[in-house]
Amino acid sequence: MTTRLLLATRNAKKLEELRRILLKRGLGEVEVLGLSDVDEFPEAPETGATFEENALAKAHDAALATGLPAIADDSGLSVDALSGMPGVLSARWAGEHGDDTANLQLVLGQLRDTPDERRGASFVCAAALVVPDREEIVVRGDWRGTIIREPRGANGFGYDPIFVPEGETRTSAELAPSEKDSVSHRGRALRALLPHLRELVEAQAG
Ligand code: IMP
Repeated sequence: MTTRLLLATRNAKKLEELRRILLKRGLGEVEVLGLSDVDEFPEAPETGATFEENALAKAHDAALATGLPAIADDSGLSVDALSGMPGVLSARWAGEHGDDTANLQLVLGQLRDTPDERRGASFVCAAALVVPDREEIVVRGDWRGTIIREPRGANGFGYDPIFVPEGETRTSAELAPSEKDSVSHRGRALRALLPHLRELVEAQAG
């Protein structure tokens, strides 16, 4: 029996990334669906205090509405000198959801007087897997780096142009997408779910 898995997103890049990871790790037979592939259901706003809470709530709602095993992620930037903010508010830090340029300019302004040695930050991703009547798991991936002073690079999205990962001189917006996948917070979190997905496939195979 083919295992069907819902990734609670409409983002085609996130769907492709999960499919690539599954294929690489010998789970290519899992059929990954996105929210556009299932009947619409009401999606609650993200109101959790942590990435984990938001990811679990999204995966839970998706599993309940569809009866499918569901994965959801929630991610953001956590800046040391801002006591971990923007955190769960990353997508709407400058006030409007998804205004990437305004969000990163606000962070740059807030850190204007912060010296280089205190510009540490992490991208964080929580990924939750909810299997109806079976289990709820949430894992976390962290990606350390520093916040530079001027945006650089055209790949990626969000805060990528101002984040230089540890061990790199390029920003994450200057990495090729496949390079970013293999080290990023999201890649790490999704890979941490793999043992649980393998168990699910084995259980469904009987
Ligand atoms: P979401 O979890 O996809 O909703 O992402 C929340 C927000 O965090 C995004 O709007 C970005 O501002 C930020 N973010 C999350 N992951 C990344 C990343 O890989 N690069 C840059 N920004 C990110």
